[in-house]
Amino acid sequence: MEALLFLGFVAIISVEAAVGKYAGDKVLRLRPENEQHLQFIRHVSHSAEVDFWQPHSVELVTTNRSVDFRIGAGWASEVQAGLNKIGLKYDILIENVQNLMEKQFDRNKTDSTGYDYEKYHRWDEIESWIAKITIENPKLVSRFKIGHSYERRSIYLLRVGKRTGFMKPAIFLDCGIHAREWISPAFCQWFVKEAVRNYGSDPAMTTLLNKLDFLVVPVINVDGYVYSWARDRFWRKTRSRNPGSRCVGTDPNRNFDAKWCSIGASRDPCDDIYCGSHAESEKEVKAVAGFIRQYCCIKAYLTIHSYSQMCLFPYSYTYSLTPNYKELNTMASDAVKALSSLHGTQYEYGPAAIIIYPSAGGSDDWAYDLGIKYSFTFELRDTGTYGFLLPESQIRPTCEETMLAINYIATYVLNHPY
Ligand SMILES: [Zn+2]
Repeated sequence: MEALLFLGFVAIISVEAAVGKYAGDKVLRLRPENEQHLQFIRHVSHSAEVDFWQPHSVELVTTNRSVDFRIGAGWASEVQAGLNKIGLKYDILIENVQNLMEKQFDRNKTDSTGYDYEKYHRWDEIESWIAKITIENPKLVSRFKIGHSYERRSIYLLRVGKRTGFMKPAIFLDCGIHAREWISPAFCQWFVKEAVRNYGSDPAMTTLLNKLDFLVVPVINVDGYVYSWARDRFWRKTRSRNPGSRCVGTDPNRNFDAKWCSIGASRDPCDDIYCGSHAESEKEVKAVAGFIRQYCCIKAYLTIHSYSQMCLFPYSYTYSLTPNYKELNTMASDAVKALSSLHGTQYEYGPAAIIIYPSAGGSDDWAYDLGIKYSFTFELRDTGTYGFLLPESQIRPTCEETMLAINYIATYVLNHPY
């Protein structure tokens, strides 16, 4: 079985490599400074093959922030010439996306026995892992199916915490809302692994697991994740069909019922920030929102994305500050301090609307408005050197440092009951 899985993996990679879908594609970072620059970017987005990495749509591009986008090989030189002509400064973050994609996987790694947490895993491997870690840790881990995806894959939730016979305060942690952000599911798996490994030996983790439950969804957008392995490494959205459009998928992080589609989201199904036909139109979003609504005692909501190294909190849909802004800001500051203490990784933090851009329909705002007053979005490594193609060699340091931030927040929540 292992051998078969491995062969399947090699086949997928070699098909991509042979086709060379992204051969010659570049990732550019631009710094638009005036209206002419913005117009040029809009023009390029309509006429050339452009995939916005940061921010996630041409609609969100403004003069005060840098823009990262992937440009198709056939267009790159023409666009670069245009940029030079209008004096729009840019850096080439990635010279050849295809080459880097092949280097993302750590070929030098010797095959370890058991599940390798320092590799990216396909969905079928993660699904087997979910079953296995549950069976192996009956006193700490329970598995729930909270719904299924558009393509009818199961969406799993792992409840991680000592069984006590009564309901404990809980921390919800989800990964893989956006398909191409592979470091995110890798972190959720790392978190569960560390929890079960350290229970009983590490006093801090033991206390957390005795007194709290962690509700971990390792991959929310399973269809998109599968698609990002099989067909398009840079797929972001779900895979639901949109009647009347040739374009597939909705941005699940614009589909929550939080001032849905009022700002920083698109009504166009072809856009990467398409908000869907209505709030919770996506089965994956409905499953997660439905679970959180009916669960008794969720005290914190944490959602893991990449990339840009940020710890964000509500609101996204308005520039207004939350009533507990000071507390959230202090928590974010301290969480980021804990994170950077390990490898010196620098994070920005603050309300998402102010730190990045306003956008509605996000899961963190929705959870906050539901009454979960500790709500945070983490954007993990890096800041653009590899972007979504963060190499496997960075899984360990990224997860190790992120654990410090999550454990800090969990401890804070434990000490501040409400
Ligand atoms: Zn994301």
